[in-house]
Amino acid sequence: MMDRYARQSALPQIGEDGQARIGESTALIIGLGGIGCATASYLACAGVGQLLLCDFDTVDESNLGRQTLYGPADVGQLKAVRAASRLAAMNPDVRLTEIPDRLSDAALAEAVSLADVVLDGCDNFATRFQVNEAAVLNSTTLISGAAIRLEGQLAVFGPDYRKAPCYRCLYQEADESLESCSGNGVLSPVPGVIGTMMAVEALKFLSGLDVETGTLNLYDAMSTEWRKLGIRKRKNCPVCRKR
Ligand SMILES: [Zn+2]
Repeated sequence: MMDRYARQSALPQIGEDGQARIGESTALIIGLGGIGCATASYLACAGVGQLLLCDFDTVDESNLGRQTLYGPADVGQLKAVRAASRLAAMNPDVRLTEIPDRLSDAALAEAVSLADVVLDGCDNFATRFQVNEAAVLNSTTLISGAAIRLEGQLAVFGPDYRKAPCYRCLYQEADESLESCSGNGVLSPVPGVIGTMMAVEALKFLSGLDVETGTLNLYDAMSTEWRKLGIRKRKNCPVCRKR
């Protein structure tokens, strides 16, 4: 079924070679909320060979307004399982691995070692820091996104963490204002914008195109603007200075 990818491989920047590289790739998706639903949908449709789908949580009715892989019948069920089922229907050629667990450091390291790229769209700093550390230790590219209220952000880190900053260089501590949608509210498609941008960066990276790393891209839905800020590598970063 290569016709599925015809429009994408018709791009001179992708081509048959780039599409083949995408098809041989594995992406680890952390968090299957509003961001992860968008990321996973596009990576599955675009022909990424294997998706590792990691989320321990179950679908809540309050998720349905923005988490587009789920419907009312999925409420109470594991997101990783329901997402895999929906994605398999969208593209039966993609290998889907459900990881419906809260991962230990060892299990996360194992999952990261299987992946060509890690996409983190989870909703808490403890997990973000854990995922960053695993990506740095394994020299794996990390694409990180967050969305809240009418704002979103996106950054690509690695894979050479000796030279490039990591997520922990950007955030030393948990920033409560970024924490979760439950206390703050979020405009329904804003996580989808960020998750879709993460899929764009992942497909560029997996097909062999250049990806800008070490830049924080900030999206403001009110003004319809993107801003770029440089992320400086911190000399005393507890995670990447060990590299
Ligand atoms: Zn760092």
